[in-house]
Amino acid sequence: PLVLGIETSCDETGVGVVRGHTLLADAVASSVDEHARFGGVVPEVASRAHLEAMVPTIQRALKDAGVTARDLDGIAVTAGPGLAGALLVGVSAAKAYAYALGKPLYGVNHLASHICVDQLEHGALPEPTMALLVSGGHSSLLLAPDITADVRPLGSTIDDAAGEAFDKVARVLGLGFPGGPVIDRYAREGDPDAIRFPRGLTGPRDPLYDFSFSGLKTAVARWIEARRAAGETVPVADVAASFQEAVTDVLTRKAVRACKDHGVEHLMLGGGVAANSRLRAMAEERCAAAGIELRVPRPKLCTDNGAMVAALGAEMVARGRAASDWELPADSSLPVTEPHVPGQHHA
Ligand code: ATP
Ligand code: MG
Ligand code: FE
Repeated sequence: PLVLGIETSCDETGVGVVRGHTLLADAVASSVDEHARFGGVVPEVASRAHLEAMVPTIQRALKDAGVTARDLDGIAVTAGPGLAGALLVGVSAAKAYAYALGKPLYGVNHLASHICVDQLEHGALPEPTMALLVSGGHSSLLLAPDITADVRPLGSTIDDAAGEAFDKVARVLGLGFPGGPVIDRYAREGDPDAIRFPRGLTGPRDPLYDFSFSGLKTAVARWIEARRAAGETVPVADVAASFQEAVTDVLTRKAVRACKDHGVEHLMLGGGVAANSRLRAMAEERCAAAGIELRVPRPKLCTDNGAMVAALGAEMVARGRAASDWELPADSSLPVTEPHVPGQHHA
């Protein structure tokens, strides 16, 4: 099926076009620069930017894909979770296009889309797939027997998301926003063993699949403060590398453990933090050692984009899932257990 997908849950206006598992277009307009001076995404600014970018980004995606809107088999849109006002822009646009063109509308879950996108890179998702979803707002281990209908959370963060920890540590280091990519870059020049930062929730009595990154963030901030108070220069690259090592160590350890415990042979990494080079390398090593096949999409497909929404929409069409009705709501706290949002009556 030929499906157009619209993503506006945060600060990226993404429109993608796919045919089944084939990526045809991935147009993204980001308002990240407008948020940088605030040190985080400002919801009102994001909504406004989506409104301005929406129509041009849809046109660009169709043009890049070399298809006309009339050829589409469906229009998919992120119905949640995310910023309410931002989601509303995408949902409204998707309804308008779908209604005007007489095409079925599919409201889909942003988190399930972060997983389903891997079909564009590596073909059909194995069933079940274990997914480590790590992004700016979420850090979860999910068991997905069917990405269109059955996604089960095994554990998640009890405080900060992994991406949030990257963003906060970058702020303390004075490296700007978003923090993930810049910490990744600095870490390449640093020593990951320079400082032993804490590994949250890895004690014998701790929950197996939950994460905690707020203690780590505080430990990094205290370490930096102590150096500054002593008048010493802060070794930015070593701090970045050691912090990144602590995050990736816990994430990969728990993900591999979850695969073994559940007899799952495939691990998928998704979400913005899956773009992290050290996480990808460490997961590769540990999965190989455990006989698990690792699947990670290219970095551009890990961060928010419309192609991932189109990928999940295409899977909905292929599996004959019901289209959403015109009452489809934007649900800012849509649970990960609902990959598909049929409409008002199910919200
Ligand atoms: P969610 O999907 O939970 O709604 P989101 O939509 O804000 O969150 P994504 O685009 O999926 O986010 O991910 C953004 C996050 O990924 C940011 O916190 C950013 O710092 C982080 N990130 C991006 N690239 C990297 C990288 N190379 N290393 C580590 N973190 C990264
Ligand atoms: Mg973003
Ligand atoms: Fe996201």
